[in-house]
Amino acid sequence: MELFQLTTARGVPDAIQAQARSKTAQNGADVRFIAGGTNLIDYMKLNVERPRQVVDINGLPLDRIEKMPDGGLLVGGLARNSDVANHETVKAQYAVLSQALLSGASAQLRNMATTAGNLLQKTRCVYYRDTASRCNKREPGTGCPAITGFNRMLAILGTSEHCIATNPSDQNVALTALEAIVHIEGVKGKRSVRIDDFYFVPGSTPERETVLEPGDLISHVTLPALPTAARSIYLKLRDRASYEFALASAAVVMKQNAAGRIEFVRIAMGGVGTKPWRSVEAEKSLAGKTATVANFREAAKAALLGAKPQSQNGFKVELAQRCLVHALGQVSQTA
Ligand code: SF4
Repeated sequence: MELFQLTTARGVPDAIQAQARSKTAQNGADVRFIAGGTNLIDYMKLNVERPRQVVDINGLPLDRIEKMPDGGLLVGGLARNSDVANHETVKAQYAVLSQALLSGASAQLRNMATTAGNLLQKTRCVYYRDTASRCNKREPGTGCPAITGFNRMLAILGTSEHCIATNPSDQNVALTALEAIVHIEGVKGKRSVRIDDFYFVPGSTPERETVLEPGDLISHVTLPALPTAARSIYLKLRDRASYEFALASAAVVMKQNAAGRIEFVRIAMGGVGTKPWRSVEAEKSLAGKTATVANFREAAKAALLGAKPQSQNGFKVELAQRCLVHALGQVSQTA
């Protein structure tokens, strides 16, 4: 770990001004916000992150979790993952988010990790984490050894010839299925971004992962109200039962009408995409249909149609389909 200056933000404008002096808000940022530090400190110890200044934002009033007048929910950027997961409204109305958070990391990490920090969680690609390796995401233009190397855990959707890294977060998959809005405060004022637009696929610039610009601070996310009687679930498949990242996961929000037809469904997948992967294809496939295993299989097939497996992760195509079929079955109570 390299030497850095630690400062404490006196307010949101102060935090924004401090980070605005960074040359970037993406990989290689020289000024970083710190809240829980559960991801940043790891990467600083590996010398992957080498900020010259770390701005402590823990004192900012951004940890609210509260119902909004329109029936939705506001979750502060500094709300701790354990507080969100165990919040009564989240458990009752946004179960997919509670389940996703509880499936990730350890209780100690969840007590520290925040909503905004989790949104910015770094990939676990082994080459990204090893500064002795080449990596386009860490050092643009150096190459992607994962494509011909160790790629079992990496992505099959949204990849490019420049990067195939997976977004590792569980929270972000649930937020994608819930169509969360990310609220940002920056040097040019406030703006709101749909979570699906918040992340970029790698393309030819894998170092650029999100829409964030220098000075941008994620103040909160909002979750729209779900249709009455909608049910949701997060299903995560991994190599071991706990403290492990997803090989494939599925977040599903669904409502069936009295005749058993699907009148509302939102689907996102984890462990398979370079960003939390919303599957509009699967949603379209299910719209208006009855909740049967055959229809779920059709939808899962549609979700993985564009998959491009690498040398070691071809199994993810079948695994992700089975994960989604099982999640759909559970949420519709047909399996
Ligand atoms: Fe780097 Fe992405 Fe390639 Fe991994 S997959 S080595 S993060 S460029």
